[in-house]
Amino acid sequence: MNHIERVSARATDLGDGMQVLRALPTRQRRMIGAWCFLDHAGPVSFAPGAGMHVGAHPHTCLQTFTWLIEGEILHRDSLGNEQVIRPGQVNLMTAGRGIVHTEDSVAGSQQLNLAQLWIALPPEMAFCEPRFEHYPVLPRWDDQACSFTLLAGSYAGRTAPAQVHSPLVGIDLASSDGANLSLALDPSFEYGILPLEGDVTAEGEAIAMHELAYSASGATTLQIQLAAGSRALLLGGLPFAEPVVMWWNFVGSSKAVVAQAQQDWENGTSRFPAVSHPGERRLVAPALPWSDAHNEKNL
Ligand code: MN
Repeated sequence: MNHIERVSARATDLGDGMQVLRALPTRQRRMIGAWCFLDHAGPVSFAPGAGMHVGAHPHTCLQTFTWLIEGEILHRDSLGNEQVIRPGQVNLMTAGRGIVHTEDSVAGSQQLNLAQLWIALPPEMAFCEPRFEHYPVLPRWDDQACSFTLLAGSYAGRTAPAQVHSPLVGIDLASSDGANLSLALDPSFEYGILPLEGDVTAEGEAIAMHELAYSASGATTLQIQLAAGSRALLLGGLPFAEPVVMWWNFVGSSKAVVAQAQQDWENGTSRFPAVSHPGERRLVAPALPWSDAHNEKNL
C-alpha cells in the first residue's frame, strides 16, 4: 500500500462572496509536479443575476488551466480572445512574459463547479509569448465502472491535446454507480487526489472534500474508491526541480522576478495590455509581502 499524506485545503474568498477551496499551494504542500495552484469552486447555485465575476488581472510564468464541470464562463484576454467554456471542456492560457484576463459567469448560468489550476512554466518557457487555447473535446473512456476524462498529459495509451511543458498528468474520475479503481502510476511522478463531489477513498482512507491525498513518487499503483455519484481529480507530475515563487497572480523564479511583474502591473506598462470590453474592472495587487530590507536580510 502507498503511504497517503493528507493535506488540508483551505477556504478562500475570491471576493464578491465567492468561496473556493484552495488545495495548492498550502503550507504542507506547494506543488504536485509542475501543478502549482488548485482551487475547487463549487458546486454552487447562484441567485438569479449573481455569479462569478473576476476582473482584469495579470499572470506571468505560468499556464492557467480551467476544467469546467458545471456552468458556463466567458473568458476574455488581452490577446483579444473571447471564449465561452462549457462543461467537459478545458481552457489553457499560457501567460509567459505576461497576459491579462477576465472571467465572468454567463448570464442565466446559475450553477458552477470547476477546478482552476496553474502549471508553473519551466525556465526555458517562463517568458514565452502569451497564448490561449480552448479544448472542447478531450479523450474520454470508461473502465472499472468509472468514466475517465484525460485533462492533460498521457495515460492508458491516450494523450490530451493541451500543450504543456513539463511531464505531468491530470485526470477527472467520475462514477455514477460507484467504482473500485486500481490505477497504474508512473513511479517517477508524485500524485494528488482531490475529491470534487461525493465520497472518495484513497488507499482505503476516506478523503474529505477539504482534503488532498498526496502520494510521493515511487509508487506504481493507487487504489481509489468512488461512491455512487462521486467525482475526483487526479494530478501527477515529475517533481518540479526549479525554484518557484508565487505571489498574488504571479509566478516567478525569484522574488525579484515577481516584484518586477507587480511593478509592471502597477505602472500599467505594455507588458500587461488591457482587456478591452465595456466596464472592465482592473484588480489591484495587494502590497508585496516582503520588503527590500527583509529581502536583503535573507541573502
Ligand atoms: Mn486568472
